[in-house]
Amino acid sequence: MLKMLVNEAHFVLEIKAEGPLLIKSGYNTISGPDMTPVLTYRNGRQEVFIPGSSLKGIFRSQLEKVVGSIKPLVACNPFLKQNADRNANESGIKRHQEALKVSLPYCGNKFRRDSPADEVYKGSCPICRLFGSTSFIGRVAIGDAYLVGDTTTAQKRVERRDGVGIDRMTGGAADKAKFDMEVVTEGTTFATTIHLRNFEIWQLGMLFVVVQDLEDELIRMGSGSARGLGQISARISTDVQGWHGGGVSTTTIRSAQGQKQEPDNQLWGLGHWLSHTNSYGTRPNDLLELASPVPHTPHGIRLVRSFTGDALTNLRGQAIEKFLQAMSEWPQAQVPAQTANAQRGQR
Ligand SMILES: [Zn+2]
Repeated sequence: MLKMLVNEAHFVLEIKAEGPLLIKSGYNTISGPDMTPVLTYRNGRQEVFIPGSSLKGIFRSQLEKVVGSIKPLVACNPFLKQNADRNANESGIKRHQEALKVSLPYCGNKFRRDSPADEVYKGSCPICRLFGSTSFIGRVAIGDAYLVGDTTTAQKRVERRDGVGIDRMTGGAADKAKFDMEVVTEGTTFATTIHLRNFEIWQLGMLFVVVQDLEDELIRMGSGSARGLGQISARISTDVQGWHGGGVSTTTIRSAQGQKQEPDNQLWGLGHWLSHTNSYGTRPNDLLELASPVPHTPHGIRLVRSFTGDALTNLRGQAIEKFLQAMSEWPQAQVPAQTANAQRGQR
């Protein structure tokens, strides 16, 4: 991990249940519904919440699909190993080879334990550079999402529903497969904080791609999406909270006089801050020219900037362009030799 802190980005994402939502707790209740939402103890009572790990999983899997659609053989698949399982049967090996035509084997299995941080970062796929792997902690943190608004009615955010088991053979309702479930009520809103540190501009763009898909209600969350559950929408909060001026805030560390300083009409990514070295596989031209200047305000050791309104709209657009550019220029892995041979054999 980079010892230095060069830049950070921060925003609050509001997530609204556009229909009933079930993020399963995974615990069986002794007497009660068969499926219940995850609960936490907060403000002196139990409340529903969305675990940050679930949100991170949603962001990651959506981006695996997006990157795979832009350019195959760039992103890794966390379930894909370098070689097929030794005791896999013929169809298992074939599936493995097919998967290797689209995705790379998991980055977490690629490095030695003592590999230097810059080597791991440079050699990781774009998804793992942002979300991390078992070799690297990642650059984004997504917190648990808690209820916003009037939390005195927290208990009323949950309703009980009958679930009907679907018979896998006929597609009809299965006998005796009726079960109870508790779901989060439509209209419930949660908020989480998303924090990015030492980021390249394209990584900010990558997060904005998911934010856009969430705004457009293209992503479902939790269990039972086949039953119509899990419809959500999200938006970047505009609420001002302390030093955070709403929208997207970026910060840099105040540097000593004479050292390089990010100007108000640019946003610098990690690659520009590290322009003296390429050991992290970043690019020196990792910066945005802003349409209008966004001032830096001193706050303790940091300089803070708030992107709101048009500045945020422009930032989102420009960062997404950088993401598309980075993916199209990302070196595509070679199709492994055994797969290439198999393809030739089929012709
Ligand atoms: Zn990876």
